[in-house]
Amino acid sequence: MRTAQARSERLLVLAPTGRDAELVRQVFAAAGLVAERCSAVEELCARARDGAGALLVAEEALTHAAMRAIAELVRAQEPWSDLPVLVFSSRVDAYTAVGDPLRALGNVTVVERPLSRGALLSMARSALRARRRQYAAREVLEQVRVAVRQRDDFMALLGHELRNPLGAIDMAGELLERGNDPARPLAVIRRQTRQLSRIVDDLLDVSRVTAGKVVLRTGPVDLVLLGHRVVEGQSLAIAGRAGVELSFVAETPDLFTTGDEARLDQVLSNLVSNAVKYTPRGGHVRVTARREGEAAVLAVADDGIGISGEDLARIFEPFVQVSSALDRARGGMGLGLTLVRGLVELHGGTVHVHSDGIGRGSVFTVQLRATARPAVENGSAERHEGGAYDVIVVEDQEDVRQTFLSALEQAGHRVRGAADGSEALALARERAPDVAFIDIGLPGMDGYEVAAALRGEVANETLLVAVTGYGLPEDRDRAIAAGFDLHLTKPVSLRRVELLLRQRTSARGHG
Ligand code: ADP
Repeated sequence: MRTAQARSERLLVLAPTGRDAELVRQVFAAAGLVAERCSAVEELCARARDGAGALLVAEEALTHAAMRAIAELVRAQEPWSDLPVLVFSSRVDAYTAVGDPLRALGNVTVVERPLSRGALLSMARSALRARRRQYAAREVLEQVRVAVRQRDDFMALLGHELRNPLGAIDMAGELLERGNDPARPLAVIRRQTRQLSRIVDDLLDVSRVTAGKVVLRTGPVDLVLLGHRVVEGQSLAIAGRAGVELSFVAETPDLFTTGDEARLDQVLSNLVSNAVKYTPRGGHVRVTARREGEAAVLAVADDGIGISGEDLARIFEPFVQVSSALDRARGGMGLGLTLVRGLVELHGGTVHVHSDGIGRGSVFTVQLRATARPAVENGSAERHEGGAYDVIVVEDQEDVRQTFLSALEQAGHRVRGAADGSEALALARERAPDVAFIDIGLPGMDGYEVAAALRGEVANETLLVAVTGYGLPEDRDRAIAAGFDLHLTKPVSLRRVELLLRQRTSARGHG
């Protein structure tokens, strides 16, 4: 079957004698042009509707019926189309008078016979050139049409996405009004407001990235830490609830790049949350970091719903969503991957997607430029220009608590330790800490109760970090419900803790 492209380039020839048409065909073929002979006007018109570069018609073939048929074809053209018609005649004068009967054929050129081979070719080429511009215009129109449709879909989607959190906030307000226990409605309001800001941030980010207005604050980025952090954060927030097992493997122990840490975090978080979102309960998401030659590679592989071949090419476009209604219910606006690609490209990197098809999982791969480990990585106090933090560590095991406290102290923070919940509450009332690390298995009040009490009391601004021996999804769910921001599994690496504290500063810096 001919491609649409080839059809749009062909010259359709209508001549009463096969010999003329064959001659013409040969002349064109020698010049690399395709001419097809049509034996009747009906055939000419039918083929032209399928696509043609120009019509070449001998005057003798232009009976009244043929004129009517071609005129009808021309009349029915789409607005972008102005099909060139070349009529070969020995009596050009007859057609140049006022009331030219050929006018009904539209973009018609009357060509005097006999015609030199060179003149024939040059006319055909110029007709084809004009025709190509028309097809190009059609393409642009089509793109605009698609963009407008996507924008309309997007507006509808945006409305929907905004309505959900607004509805929840409204309802929480009503509960407060009726004098209900404020803890739950307040938690709803906080969570839904965060969701709303995320939507607004995405919208602003995408437009800033596409307009090239994002300025990267670059520095050395430890991609292994980044991987740990993103996976940990998402395990707590989403993966646990979705029943998806999320893991991170650093295939290369040291992996650094130069970039904007917060932006790269955003890239990986987006990919991981998509992978979780598009993977059914019981599935797996595996994040790996490795070096490949000069490249630092982050890959997010899932065994979820997969992506069809034709959609692979589109999903990075803005507002594109290809999933079924089932997945739609999980929200999103088709902006995440656009943002991912924009941010990765700002870093001079690339992002690719691979899927073996629907139901066969997906792999997103980000390639960045690998750089050497920075000299002062893991240095101490100077990394805390943001200031020391006020940290409370709640841990009943004396040794563990003391080690943790002295490490934090050495790094320049103000630290206080508590062996149980009531001690922790007392300390927090004295002065609200920036961060509290709370062991879950405490005597008396357990860590969940401590967190809930702290949240209720003093610590709205405090980052609450659960520290447990288990990383089970249920634990994480419970930790969130109790008001924790983060969930770390023992043993807690000090490097991770430092990073958390640093993030805390940058989060505040932005706010
Ligand atoms: P959305 O807000 O819809 O998640 P994205 O831009 O992040 O928007 O993704 C665009 C589309 O790509 C999604 O709607 C989904 O259909 C598809 N997609 C993204 N990640 C995955 C994945 N890991 N598995 C299957 N489909 C995916």
